[in-house]
Amino acid sequence: MGPPLADQSVFWKGERLEHAVLRAHGPNPDADLGFLLGGRFREAVPLTDKFGRQITDLRVSVTDRCNFRCVYCRSANPETQRPADELLEWEEYERLVRLLVGMGIRKVRVTGGEPLVRPGVERFLARLAALGVQDLSMTTNGYLLAARLDALVAAGMNRINISLDSLDREKFERITRTKTFEQVIAGIDRAQASKLRPVKVNAVLVRGINDDEVEAFASFARDRDLIMRFIEFMPLDQDHAWTRDMVVTGREVYGRIQALWPLEPIPHGRSETARKYRFADGRGEIGLISPVSEPFCGHCSRLRLTADGKLRTCLFSKEDHDLRSLLRDGASDGEISEEILAIVAQKERGHPINEPGFVPPSRTMVSIGG
Ligand code: SAM
Repeated sequence: MGPPLADQSVFWKGERLEHAVLRAHGPNPDADLGFLLGGRFREAVPLTDKFGRQITDLRVSVTDRCNFRCVYCRSANPETQRPADELLEWEEYERLVRLLVGMGIRKVRVTGGEPLVRPGVERFLARLAALGVQDLSMTTNGYLLAARLDALVAAGMNRINISLDSLDREKFERITRTKTFEQVIAGIDRAQASKLRPVKVNAVLVRGINDDEVEAFASFARDRDLIMRFIEFMPLDQDHAWTRDMVVTGREVYGRIQALWPLEPIPHGRSETARKYRFADGRGEIGLISPVSEPFCGHCSRLRLTADGKLRTCLFSKEDHDLRSLLRDGASDGEISEEILAIVAQKERGHPINEPGFVPPSRTMVSIGG
C-alpha cells in the first residue's frame, strides 16, 4: 500500500483531492478515502495527477510473450520469460480495468508482447466493452490477425494499430527475425476491409535499417488509404543498442514526404501522441510520433498495466507499482482504488531521455507493453 492519500498531492478539478472530499462530504473523521472510494464519491473522482493532467488512457499488456523478435525491441539471444503464474489472470485484469474505468479511464489499448498469442483475448475484449470502455483498441504485429479479425470486431474493438517496419520482404524478415511478411500484409488488408478502416500502420524508423523507406511508406498510405505512423526509435530495446544518431526525427520524415506530396495538418487532441497530416491531393494520412525529438509528456494522459500486474506511470519510470500483490492478498476495491490514486500522484512530469546522464529503464518495451 502507498502512504495515506492525505499525504499525496492528488488533484481533482484543480483542487487538492482531500479538500474536494471535505467539500463533498463535510468533515467526517470516519470517512477514510477507502470508504469514500467504495461509495458514490468514487464515481466522481477523475484520475488527475499533480501536474493537472487527467488520466484517461490505459495500455494493458496481456502477455510478455511475442512471436516476433524485432531488432529495435527484443534481443536475438534467448530471454527468460516470466512464469505463467506471475501473469495476471483475465479476471484480475477485468477487475483492475473496472476500477480504473470508474476512476475516469475511457480508452483502453490491449497490447503486449503480442496480444494475439494469448488465448482468450477476444473474450477479454468483449468483457472490457461490457465494462463501458468507450474506445477499445489493440496494437498487434498482425501475424495472427487475418483469421481473428471478425471475432475481435464482434467483441467490440473499435480501432487497431498494426506494426510494419519494412515494405521489403527481406528487410522485414531481418527486422522481425521471422518469415511472416505475407501474413502481416494480409492482416492489414483484412482490417482495412473491415469497419476498423482506416487502419493505423506503425513503423519504428531506425537510421541505417529502414530510414530509406519513408517515401515508400507514405506511398503505401496513399495507395491503401490508411494512416501510416512513423515512430521515433526510443531507448527501450533489450540489447541497449540505441544511440541518438539512430533516431530518425519526425521533422525529417515530414520534410521528405512534404517535398513529394504536400501535406495538410489535421487537428489533434491535446493528449494524442501523433502529429497528423493528410495528403493535400488525395487519400491517406501520416502520423508523426516524436517522443525523443519533440516530447509530448506535458499532455500525457496514459497509464500502463504490465502483464505481471504492475502499474507504470511512464514508459521510462524507474519503478513500477505492484497491483498483483494487492489483488492476490485480498485487498478491497476501495483499497486498490486508493493505491491507484497514490500511484497516479507520483506520475512523472516527463521522460528523461534528453536529460544529462539518462539511463534506460531496466524494463524494455516488450515487457512493459507498447
Ligand atoms: N506486438 C505488438 C506489435 O508489434 O505492435 C504490440 C507490442 S509492441 C512492443 C508495441 C509497439 O511498440 C509497436 O508499435 C512497436 O513498434 C513499438 N516499439 C517497440 N520497441 C520500440 C522502441 N525501442 N522504440 C519505439 N517503439 C518501439
